[in-house]
Amino acid sequence: MKFALVEGIRQEATTGTRGICPGCGSPTLAKCGIKRLHHWAHVSTAVCDRWWELETEWHRAWKNLFPTEWQEIHHRATDGEVHIADVKTASGTVVEFQHSTISPQERGSREAFYDPMIWIVDGTRLKRDLSSFRQEITTCSPSAETNTRAWLLWDRASAIIERWRGGSRPLFLDFGDADFPLAWLPDAGVLWLLNYLPRERVIVTPVRRQSVVDHLLAGTPIQGFARPMPNPPPRSALPGFQAHLMRARARRPRF
Ligand SMILES: [Zn+2]
Repeated sequence: MKFALVEGIRQEATTGTRGICPGCGSPTLAKCGIKRLHHWAHVSTAVCDRWWELETEWHRAWKNLFPTEWQEIHHRATDGEVHIADVKTASGTVVEFQHSTISPQERGSREAFYDPMIWIVDGTRLKRDLSSFRQEITTCSPSAETNTRAWLLWDRASAIIERWRGGSRPLFLDFGDADFPLAWLPDAGVLWLLNYLPRERVIVTPVRRQSVVDHLLAGTPIQGFARPMPNPPPRSALPGFQAHLMRARARRPRF
């Protein structure tokens, strides 16, 4: 965890301090080593949120794009279980940053517990995820009937798409600044939005990463990439003159 209560105030971990977990109220110890990010750990081995995963740099960097008071928001379920949302926006959307794989059951229970919510998934954990995803994207052209460029794919089209199939919340894949050989796609700052549909289909839409952050911060629209305009019908440079010629030809007597 990034935050614990020290004398009642939410604070980040500093060497030698003790605090209280805001979720379960048990004592926590600041861990400020060199190998891992500075964080708070429960003194007893009990983990209060069984959904919590060890934070990576990737996690922390994403969380830090949002106000601290939105980060690590505790929720108590009706059965008394405590869950910590990575980020909860002012409008109430929970954002979960997921680095490691989770089972479909766990994903399902989180989706049922947090509503509304979105996932942001680290696509760089397994190297082969990017290569198989990229291959799928580049072997066919954007096929979905959407306003921006998007693909309609089978929900087992690539390994990472398949692992997250069956989900009911928007999911953004973060491949960092991985290169995709598509002329219209910028080199950096892209996330891949997956919307799973019934009948084993998924719509994959590249979007501007900053527009997702802005959307969560301020409610502005998420931006995809415009589809090319259909080719306009050929037009003469001199339409009036062309029409005059046609009329003149029509009037000419035929033999
Ligand atoms: Zn706790």
